[in-house]
Amino acid sequence: MDSITLIRPDDWHIHLRDNLALETTVPAAARCFDRGIVMPNLTPPVTTVSRASAYRERILAHTPYGSNWQPLMVLYLTDNTSPKEIHAAAESGFIYGCKYYPAGATTNSDSGVTDLTKMDAVFEAMQSVGMVLQMHGEVTSDDVDIFDREAVFIERHLRPLVAKFPDLKIVLEHITTQQGAEFVLNASDNIGATITPQHLLYNRNHMLVGGIRPHLFCLPILKRDVHQQALIKAAVSGNQKIFLGTDSAPHTQDAKESSCGCAGCFSHHAAIEMYAEVFDQAGAMDKLEAFASTNGCDFYGLPRNNSTILLRREPWKIQAAVPYEDTQLIPLGAGTTLNWMLVE
Ligand SMILES: [Zn+2]
Repeated sequence: MDSITLIRPDDWHIHLRDNLALETTVPAAARCFDRGIVMPNLTPPVTTVSRASAYRERILAHTPYGSNWQPLMVLYLTDNTSPKEIHAAAESGFIYGCKYYPAGATTNSDSGVTDLTKMDAVFEAMQSVGMVLQMHGEVTSDDVDIFDREAVFIERHLRPLVAKFPDLKIVLEHITTQQGAEFVLNASDNIGATITPQHLLYNRNHMLVGGIRPHLFCLPILKRDVHQQALIKAAVSGNQKIFLGTDSAPHTQDAKESSCGCAGCFSHHAAIEMYAEVFDQAGAMDKLEAFASTNGCDFYGLPRNNSTILLRREPWKIQAAVPYEDTQLIPLGAGTTLNWMLVE
């Protein structure tokens, strides 16, 4: 197979940042995706319908001319989120989910939820209106090793939550472990998961052997090879609950190459091409469209896109840097060669 046409894909997990960053992130998202679930971890976070509306307007001001790309907005859950705000979000027509960050888990998550069990009224409201709960599934307590945080979260918090709210639509975002993949694959149809390109292409050896590579540092952190293999297996399975979410998350080069570097990988310069690489290597190009273009919108209850993209087998080298804010960022896979190219 030397070329493939896909229904235009969507990205079910992106970080666009704000203001000057939007000049880079919005055109990059619109390059091959038609919609994006926009993460709300700004400073201050997007906690209300009115903040989401204002952020959406700032994003739309950067949509390239002629593009159909649409931001799908998300509210940031805090200890103070009210059921009333959930109902307002459901009625807004532009909010498609609420994001749970455990307080302190990742970039700008300080306002996150401190105790999941105190959120019952909010989850009750979300369940009743069919609002999707997007979860950053990691515990943040000091007694749990960073490589175990996802697996512990599933047992300690997610299983009880699912038992209490069996009809709540949940996306376990950016799964990174065998336990995450198995949990979702064995759960009911209202539980889905996104997988990033970095967790399919790399494991922790790529990040740590022969020198530390800060541009592969993201959260949840890259795990062992056995987890990478489990994620690939889940992604190429064609299972309807598993779909594309890049978690593309830009930071400046300086912020990453630091004594205390930021977590996050920018991947929108080549996201669909990197996924194609993984599916091709697994001999599963016939499953790429389900993962990238149909499973996600089916899960969210949204129509499938009516345009297509064309990928061709043709080697090309990922750029060394991307202009970002008033400086630059180093994109995921910088300087390496990919075998699939987005043609149109
Ligand atoms: Zn994210």
